[in-house]
Amino acid sequence: MAWFKKTRKPMAAPKKDKASRVPEGLWVKCPDCSQVIYNKDLATNLGVCPKCAHHFRMSAGERLRTLFDAGWVEYDKELASTDPLAFTDTKPYKARLKAGMEATGLKDAVIVASGAIDGIDTMVAAMEYAFIGGSMGVVVGEKITRGIERAIESRMPLVIVCCSGGARMMEGALSLMQMAKIAGALARLDRARLPYISVLTDPTTGGVTASFAMLGDLNIAEPKALIGFAGPRVIEQTIRQKLPEGFQRSEFLLEKGMIDLVVDRRELKGVVARAWRFMGAGQVSSLKSEVSNTSLEPQLETEA
Ligand SMILES: [Zn+2]
Repeated sequence: MAWFKKTRKPMAAPKKDKASRVPEGLWVKCPDCSQVIYNKDLATNLGVCPKCAHHFRMSAGERLRTLFDAGWVEYDKELASTDPLAFTDTKPYKARLKAGMEATGLKDAVIVASGAIDGIDTMVAAMEYAFIGGSMGVVVGEKITRGIERAIESRMPLVIVCCSGGARMMEGALSLMQMAKIAGALARLDRARLPYISVLTDPTTGGVTASFAMLGDLNIAEPKALIGFAGPRVIEQTIRQKLPEGFQRSEFLLEKGMIDLVVDRRELKGVVARAWRFMGAGQVSSLKSEVSNTSLEPQLETEA
């Protein structure tokens, strides 16, 4: 009897034809509580885990659907980057743009649209993370700026839903200039006495945090969103100190007074509408009559 010659049947690999019949992407696992969620349930719950309220990342289109009552009018849909620096890193920037367009069906990382939120006409810019990390290039800056100018012209309040890794390095200094351009337009919105709510979602970092994301009359964050300028690892290496628990997360920033509210996505629309009413929406007719009295800069005349 040879001990070492015992023949063992190798474990049978599952046969191809017996493979799972469940189609790809029908179920998702919550990264927070490991609950397996049916995709349709997740969608009806606005991308929030029903068990632990983890907020999944949301596309710009879905975001508009959750905010607006019904339809909306989209602006500057065809605006696309011209790759002004003919930039190439590991891949040419043109190829990255093309991949982004194919993945999202958008021409760049933001959708600007107007529609009604609980009956109140609002201009909304929603950023798309799946398009080169929601980075802010010339097109994103231009679309948001034009959106703000349209909001001023038609006396509408503004919501920007931020979801971005920051400035788009493939457009170099041109992308950094968008910070000043958007901030300037927001100052004109402020002078026209129209409110702006910034919604910070996971992640809001870099040049976006350093400009319009933090300039809202109300800065509202989604729960547990990463919000910061430089990443935690860079900061830790620079200051050579261990960072506190929950650093750069919404709840931590609320405690430190950096943001005003942390709002569950399922309640966001109601909170925005209530804020508009508190700020005087509903007296729209009286707001509209003020237009002639408000001095607007000449730039506002240039309509694209
Ligand atoms: Zn969960």
